[in-house]
Amino acid sequence: MPQPATRHSVLECDVCVVGGGSGGIGAAVSAARLGADTILIEKEKMLGGTSTLGGVSNWEPVAGATGLPRELFLAMQVRDGACILSRLSIPTPSRPVAEFGRNDALTYEDTCARASDLRITFEPEIFHEEAYRLLEAAGAEVWLETALAAATHHGNRIEKIQAVSPDRTIEIRAHTYIDCTADVHLVRMVGAVTYLGPDPRARFGEESAEEQPRPYLNGVTLIYRVTPTVSGHVDPLPAPIAPGSWKRAAHITELPGGDRLINPLPTLLGTEYYAMELQQARKLAEERTLAHWHWLQTHHGYDGWRLRCMAPLLGVREGPRTLAEKMLTEKEVIAGLAGQDQRDIIAICDHPIDFHGGAHKMRPTPLYGVPFGCLIPKGWQNLLVACRGAGFSHLAGSSCRLSRTMMTLGQAAGTAAALTRQAGTTARNLDPAVLRETLRAQGVTLEAPAVN
Ligand SMILES: Cc1cc2nc3c(=O)[nH]c(=O)nc-3n(C[C@H](O)[C@H](O)[C@H](O)COP(=O)(O)OP(=O)(O)OC[C@H]3O[C@@H](n4cnc5c(N)ncnc54)[C@H](O)[C@@H]3O)c2cc1C
Repeated sequence: MPQPATRHSVLECDVCVVGGGSGGIGAAVSAARLGADTILIEKEKMLGGTSTLGGVSNWEPVAGATGLPRELFLAMQVRDGACILSRLSIPTPSRPVAEFGRNDALTYEDTCARASDLRITFEPEIFHEEAYRLLEAAGAEVWLETALAAATHHGNRIEKIQAVSPDRTIEIRAHTYIDCTADVHLVRMVGAVTYLGPDPRARFGEESAEEQPRPYLNGVTLIYRVTPTVSGHVDPLPAPIAPGSWKRAAHITELPGGDRLINPLPTLLGTEYYAMELQQARKLAEERTLAHWHWLQTHHGYDGWRLRCMAPLLGVREGPRTLAEKMLTEKEVIAGLAGQDQRDIIAICDHPIDFHGGAHKMRPTPLYGVPFGCLIPKGWQNLLVACRGAGFSHLAGSSCRLSRTMMTLGQAAGTAAALTRQAGTTARNLDPAVLRETLRAQGVTLEAPAVN
């Protein structure tokens, strides 16, 4: 059959969001709601990124999740079998798995402050559908299976980007671009500065950063889903995978229909993952997953379950981070809101500094804020970044990378992009007080809750 000729489209818009994960959904919904003509491109068939295709269908408790994440939760909650709230149900120290079981007494608000024994778990497909509905209702144009391929810039201004889908190439000219690709593909494509891995102490003057750190990256996990079956059933372990060859602690969460998600900590070391081709990393991760599952089945009470599927995408916790107008560093995280200049804070959070077993031990943090400058790549005019690769140091990024925080950063970036369009200005010249006021009006919490 002759293939149809590839079509070429040229689109113009106010705001172009690249990447439809948590950050991208937040950015595109918010920009479109404020009247900006908004296009979102996403390379996969589904929205949600790490939160859906990466298998992390899980929201840990975190402060500040009061804006769009709450709306998305409410939209999912009315659907049958969409999401459940759960609490750690079997916390025995000798058991290397932590199981979260359904607890209908919990409310969404319980999950808006740090409490490590709570979770919201959701069906990825329903997350995608409800996020899509929010985008549609806001008036954003969504292009799935459409990947960023090239970008043209003059000096520190992006002129246009090119994206490709299975049947066409698209040229997009926008007033503002928001990079929400997690690995900051657009930021890197135009040559803005990024960092990967631990920062030497001299870079940001962080007290616990080493002077000459060794390469380290937070682990990569292939999350898998298991389903109940007849008792005594153990899935066969294909040769040549050796029994017991991948024993790792795991977080196990219950899904609405009774399946469970298994999140081993980790499947690949972060440095191992970055040293390999993607296909090779996937193959190794799948072998280790089968070994891990066999170990849970034979040693931890999971006989009577079967492996239903592995997540389509590897769960990558850490990648390149952008050098931004302001960097969120250990200093701000430790100082907390009380010790920060709050005038340009656009999101708050309180997740611990957590590398899952790296050189730095898990450290609790107070409630702290993310400044707007973290979303502006240094020196760039019409580019924002709202994903785990925004302006965070390695230490700070290990704390604020949670999905709902990324969605809230997206909400701030999309709102800022729409406001700059209306005011005919750039993000750097936007009055943060106006941005904060607009975010508050959208239900985003920017202050510490009042103590009774
Ligand atoms: C294993 C693991 C467990 C975790 N556990 C939790 C947890 O329990 N709770 C929690 O809150 N957080 C957790 N996190 C952290 C959290 O899930 C992520 O930090 C967050 O989801 C990242 O959101 P994002 O928007 O930055 O990126 P993503 O969700 O990864 O979105 C990026 C999107 O960009 C798209 N994209 C990439 N390149 C292109 C391109 N060239 N063109 C177009 N689109 C592109 C991708 O397809 C993707 O949809 C976990 C992370 C991992 C990896």
